[in-house]
Amino acid sequence: MATATARFLRDLSTDPAALEALANEAKEFALELGALRHTEGSPEVVTYAPFTLFPTPVPRDAFHQALEVQSHFNVLMDKISQDPRFLEDTLASTIEADDFTARLFDILKRVEKEGRTQSIVLGINRSDYMFEQSDDGTSRLKQVEINTIAAGAFGVSDNIPVIHRHILRLVGLGDQCQSIPDCNSTAGIARALAKAWQLYGQKEAVILFHVENLHFVSFNHRNLQEMLRKRGISFMRKNFESVYESGRLDSDKRLFIDGVEVAVVFHRDGFMPHHYTEKGWEAKLMMERSLAVKCPDISTHLAGTKKVQQELARPGVLEKFFPDQPQVVEQIRATFTGLYTLDMCPEGDQTVAMALDSPGNFVLKPQREGGGNNFYEDNIVRILEEVKGDARRAAYILMERIRPKVEHNVLLRRGLPIKLTPVAAELGVFGAYVRNGGEMVLNEVLGHIMRTKGIDYEDGGISRVAMYDNLIHY
Ligand code: ADP
Ligand code: MG
Repeated sequence: MATATARFLRDLSTDPAALEALANEAKEFALELGALRHTEGSPEVVTYAPFTLFPTPVPRDAFHQALEVQSHFNVLMDKISQDPRFLEDTLASTIEADDFTARLFDILKRVEKEGRTQSIVLGINRSDYMFEQSDDGTSRLKQVEINTIAAGAFGVSDNIPVIHRHILRLVGLGDQCQSIPDCNSTAGIARALAKAWQLYGQKEAVILFHVENLHFVSFNHRNLQEMLRKRGISFMRKNFESVYESGRLDSDKRLFIDGVEVAVVFHRDGFMPHHYTEKGWEAKLMMERSLAVKCPDISTHLAGTKKVQQELARPGVLEKFFPDQPQVVEQIRATFTGLYTLDMCPEGDQTVAMALDSPGNFVLKPQREGGGNNFYEDNIVRILEEVKGDARRAAYILMERIRPKVEHNVLLRRGLPIKLTPVAAELGVFGAYVRNGGEMVLNEVLGHIMRTKGIDYEDGGISRVAMYDNLIHY
């Protein structure tokens, strides 16, 4: 039982010297395995990636529920991306209120008008969940959001089960190791990228990693790039600026960068407003208009917005995408929590009243990705009081606040004191699909990652800083 680890941790926390020694062993092992991160912008100064000393207990059923629903989320994201009318209707109010979404949408309009050049579609997404604590003590899977572009954090996380098993063996809990599932999403991401590259059908063409930072390769990308290299696929890494400077489209709209043809663009940047300069917008448009397979393309990027998530939770909307599959609808809907529109309509007025009445029960989310943007408690009141009377409020959605099951763990991060801390875990499940025209040629559940945050009352209760973690079944 996973509670054995919880008991052990509680006892260990009364022996600071033993706890410190175990934490040091875990950190050293992480360094040896290459579970690293760069520090403060230096290519050669590294430390271990932040992680938890022990795995987090998660009910086996909830974990499998998340894995099983993922192939349906893959299909759903793909269907939404093929429905420009749905995107336009759903995002209409957001576009009015939010310049960033409006500019992304302009790119979609432009591409739709020109006619899409590429019928190969590659989607790599990550659906994120928390485990909600029910009154009866059980925990239920609840979706936080689905990321169609900001779907990172693979790579380093593959090492965490190895570290956790090592720690459990060291403390005499080796029998628990079998309850820790492997993390191996990187291999699946490589498979999906390779499939799209192969369908593009040009052996000399490369995969472009569109990244923010050119100075060093994130450790999360290093393994993936090696996996591609082993398959005989070359890649290049460019940021918006360098795509703008050295990219061009030929008369067939094939994308060339530094004279090399690009088969697949893997966007690891471009989901936050500050990622873009005017040259960045130009570069995004050029890539989008090109024949290269985009991961994600602009419509899939927009399918991952919080406004779309809110629309999907409305009665009857999932049914439109899965007309004859009530079981699929049920499986997807079972992961949803309350999501409410703030559009200028009676329903939106009700949302405002409900949020002002009990702000503690909700999270106010602007149309942003990438962390640190949401509002809680008094900030919900402050913002809604300011925007409730006009269309600015449509830049947000309101979401029921998930009350996560609280566990205790030791968070290992350079400079952080070693102590037992209340934490909440978040599960992410990676999915990938490749569509070639009308045919889905790959639809895979690639695996999971776990990240755990301290409960420190800074961000409405949960810290913004996530530690790599893994789960242990019970
Ligand atoms: P982002 O696109 O910025 O990652 P998320 O929707 O994932 O936005 O929210 C960021 C974080 O806020 C989540 O990782 C989670 O810790 C917390 N959070 C988001 N939605 C909820 C919710 N409904 N209830 C409780 N916490 C939430
Ligand atoms: Mg998120």
